Amino acid sequence: MSHSNNRPFAERLQVLSRNLWWTWNPQAQEIFSELSPLVWERSNHNAVEVLREVSHIELAARLHDSDFQKKVHRILEEFESYMQSTDTWASRHAAHLKNPVAYFSAEFGLHESIPIYSGGLGVLSGDHTKSASDLGIPFVGISLFYRNGYFQQQVGPDGWQQETYPLADPTHLPLELVTSDEGGRLLNSVEIGHSTVFFQAWRLRVGRAVIYLLDTNLPENDQHFQGLTAHVYGGDVDTRIGQEIILGIGGVRLLHSLGVEPSVFHMNEGHSAFLTLELLRDQLKQGADVQQARKSVTARCIFTTHTPVPAGHDRFSSEMLHHVLGRFWGETGLSHDQLMSFGRSIPADPEELFTMTVLALKMSRAANGVSELHGRVSREMWKDLFATDNADLVPIGHITNGIHTPSWATAKAHEFWNKRLGVDWTAKLMDPHYWSKLVNGDLASDEELWAMRYGLRRDLVEFARRRLRMQYSRAEGDVSRFVDHALSTDALTICFARRFATYKRAPLVFRNLDRIITLANDSERPIQFVFAGKAHPRDNEGKRFLRTIAEISRHPQLIGRVVFIENYDMNVARFLVAGADVWLNTPRRPLEASGTSGQKIVIHGGLNLSIMDGWWREAYLGANGWPIGDDTSEPNLEAQDEHDAEDLYEVLHEQILPEFYQRNAQGVPSAWIKRIRTAMHSLIPVYNTDRMVAEYVRKYYLVP
Ligand SMILES: *Cc1c(COP(=O)(O)O)cnc(C)c1O
Repeated sequence: MSHSNNRPFAERLQVLSRNLWWTWNPQAQEIFSELSPLVWERSNHNAVEVLREVSHIELAARLHDSDFQKKVHRILEEFESYMQSTDTWASRHAAHLKNPVAYFSAEFGLHESIPIYSGGLGVLSGDHTKSASDLGIPFVGISLFYRNGYFQQQVGPDGWQQETYPLADPTHLPLELVTSDEGGRLLNSVEIGHSTVFFQAWRLRVGRAVIYLLDTNLPENDQHFQGLTAHVYGGDVDTRIGQEIILGIGGVRLLHSLGVEPSVFHMNEGHSAFLTLELLRDQLKQGADVQQARKSVTARCIFTTHTPVPAGHDRFSSEMLHHVLGRFWGETGLSHDQLMSFGRSIPADPEELFTMTVLALKMSRAANGVSELHGRVSREMWKDLFATDNADLVPIGHITNGIHTPSWATAKAHEFWNKRLGVDWTAKLMDPHYWSKLVNGDLASDEELWAMRYGLRRDLVEFARRRLRMQYSRAEGDVSRFVDHALSTDALTICFARRFATYKRAPLVFRNLDRIITLANDSERPIQFVFAGKAHPRDNEGKRFLRTIAEISRHPQLIGRVVFIENYDMNVARFLVAGADVWLNTPRRPLEASGTSGQKIVIHGGLNLSIMDGWWREAYLGANGWPIGDDTSEPNLEAQDEHDAEDLYEVLHEQILPEFYQRNAQGVPSAWIKRIRTAMHSLIPVYNTDRMVAEYVRKYYLVP
């Protein structure tokens, strides 16, 4: 028996609620939802809120229910043994990695109740952290505490996105204020322009990993700086650079004040690249010359780039940098030109802006893109920086992104696989042999897989109806009649959900609207669509795309057959990735560096229909989903859109519809199920973050 068993249940439950381990363990979630279904739902599944609501007296009484008590006991034992276990993948494969990996990211998507992410980059960081915990890798994340988070989305009757920013109360989140040895809150500061900006930090526990969220909301700061960390990617360029100074420079200072000596600094995207300047300053202060200092920094840093568009990289003018970093940089004794040279491809070019990606690339011992194609695109993109015409010589590799499968599998999917594979399937995600068991029906018959598909599709349909009722109840006039019959549990369900960045081309599938109207209204073989996604508040083009989808969802012949679910977040995502028969992905090649949402569907028996971009370009093997277009791109964007849309319709018409609606005597689409099996055994053991993090360890974290 472990020592913690003597502690009262209430205390152990508190500890559990404040460790996000519960976010990938559905039976732990069940405890909280059972304690207070109302608060659980109302708080977007916040375990801390539930325990705030339930008094000690009530908890003690509820635990008199022996079934409930047994369940709580079992989960606590499981959690505590996870936390204490020393026999991990890392203990076997990365024992040299003693000091933590410090992973810097501007956003972390860990759970819907913690709104400190905007999209795929954040979700990737969150999934990376969870797998680092599962694999037993010493790991510290650094990000900001965005008190107002990313916005909540509503769509007006005119189809235009509206944004609100509810204020989060840290005491209602699983956050713990980081204190100093004396017990008060630990304060650090950075210099921004002529001001000293103080920040505190919040500790967030993710299994065995820890994330620190930096927060400038302090009375010590000018009003103006108190709100610096309030919004995810909020405000203008001043806010942007200020946030990046807190994240990078502040992050290093925080780790230093905590006595954490990272074995490696991993910059997830360029936002945190100022961290290298702080490391450099530290070396210079200790007496190193520039050469030595730079060498020492480079030896400790690695960088992952995510952005294949030049405009997507943060760039700052020389004047701006001088203004905000002048005082900080002055301490190094180096010139402003020297600073600028670290952020320029051509150091002597006075016109060139300071680029965070360039800084990160120059100051890292290794760098990578996030899919094979993206690695290649990045090498091409940064040829100048490495002074070569031969992209093959550019030292940027690739590690293809994955997902933390246990977090994305719904409770129903967990139950399905627990029953058939055993509860340890979540520990076998890197083993292709293990998943090859799904090739035939020995473990899960066609009928059982089809039953799961139906159950998950129904869950999505019912979720969508609940959400649509809420959405339409706001609108004037009685449009809510259709809601109870919106979507069908029998129809082929195609989902599209992601940020409404224009390169993702949400409206592409509606390019020929008449065709879609015909297909959606086919009484024998109907298709239906579920859309979700937020446009960045300043992206009007993205908002116009969203309005197009909103308008189509109100078209008299498509209403209830094309639906838009507001306020895309990780909860909405989980319903969609589970319920989708087909996951549609239509980025403009090669702009989707990896994409991960299509990876979340596989464990649920969904199939991908995607442009040959990002992860799908290397994952598509011929029978595990469908491609749109081929491995080429046209320079003429309009022609490319037309070409891709036509190809999409053809695949839909010629392959997807016949295969989905071709049923055997048991009512099961055998060819479809066969394709699901192929997708499962070819994709599950590869496109997950256990494999991804293990690859980071082997290629980049362990110094050769
Ligand atoms: C997975 C996920 C994403 C990333 O989707 P992509 O299609 O890879 O861009 C974005 N937002 C949320 C909420 C997600 O769960």
